Amino acid sequence: MIIQLKENRTKDAQKELESTLEQFDIQFYPVNTQLKSYLVGLLKKELDLRHIGAMEAVEDVHRVFGKHKLVSADWKRTGSSIAVNDLEIGNGKAIMMAGPCSIESEEQVDLIASYLKEQGIPIMRGGAFKPRTSPYSFRGLGLEGLKMFHSICKSKGIKVITEVMESSQIEHMYPYVDIFQVGARNSQNFNLLEALGKVDKPVLIKRGISGSIDELLYSAEYVFHKGNERIILCERGIRSFESAYRNTLDLNAVPILKEKSHLPVIVDPSHGIGIRKHVPKMSLAGLAAGADGLIVEIHEEPERAFTDGQQSLSLNEFSLLNQKVQQIQDLNLF
Ligand code: PEP
Ligand code: MN
Repeated sequence: MIIQLKENRTKDAQKELESTLEQFDIQFYPVNTQLKSYLVGLLKKELDLRHIGAMEAVEDVHRVFGKHKLVSADWKRTGSSIAVNDLEIGNGKAIMMAGPCSIESEEQVDLIASYLKEQGIPIMRGGAFKPRTSPYSFRGLGLEGLKMFHSICKSKGIKVITEVMESSQIEHMYPYVDIFQVGARNSQNFNLLEALGKVDKPVLIKRGISGSIDELLYSAEYVFHKGNERIILCERGIRSFESAYRNTLDLNAVPILKEKSHLPVIVDPSHGIGIRKHVPKMSLAGLAAGADGLIVEIHEEPERAFTDGQQSLSLNEFSLLNQKVQQIQDLNLF
């Protein structure tokens, strides 16, 4: 059960509500987000919600059937659209985010950010802190690189999405980030998720490498219940028995996530298949599956990329994909 509380409720009215819940033996958790206040109630037996709905502190009350509460579509049937300053994600128009796996140099960021602007792409991706399987691989330009990334993007009106690997980085990264990305390896780092719950910027959570849909939704629940409602889910492929491609992009997850949750869902076809020439097809498939947008790796010279060159589109390849995406949007096909 989700109880939305009135903004102007009195303390006494809230106390009365809470003692009524106790009388009904309902365990409840107060949640205060940047937008609203809620009580999340765990119903053990049937209850006539009208008892609760009629109480003074209550604006609205909904039964939530599934295990996930705040992120569930049961109480919020119209999808949430996430504001990134003046931009909306999840408002029915596919959002495109693109950029290199890792930012590599000032020249590169300048070139790609200018290119994105020309293409009408509002958000640039790029890792400054990279989770790498081997400690000897390139691990990103760090905070100084992120500052450079942000200042170039800002000058061109492009927003920055980048990965945060641990909670201690948040405050240092905060001024230079528009959307915090939680990587697949950190998808269940509950300390990081809770810390991002206290931040007033959107968070994109990638599905874990072997993460189930339920687990991804619980990860989002962690962020929401600490106060941040601006969450984007990302299907980026899961580990399976198949070895013909890097990951198994599970496009089934898209309609299922959209059915279970009110949060926007983005597809990452680059990590999802890991093979450059197939990325455009899987991008379009992601949109056909109902995704609210795409996050795509691109590079000015993919063969020379420090990381994930094998799955990065060249700028020309991305332009072709972007053209198709725009045509699909114009025709309102999906
Ligand atoms: C990335 O976006 O470059 C990345 C490391 O993604 P993931 O966490 O999905 O592996
Ligand atoms: Mn990558």
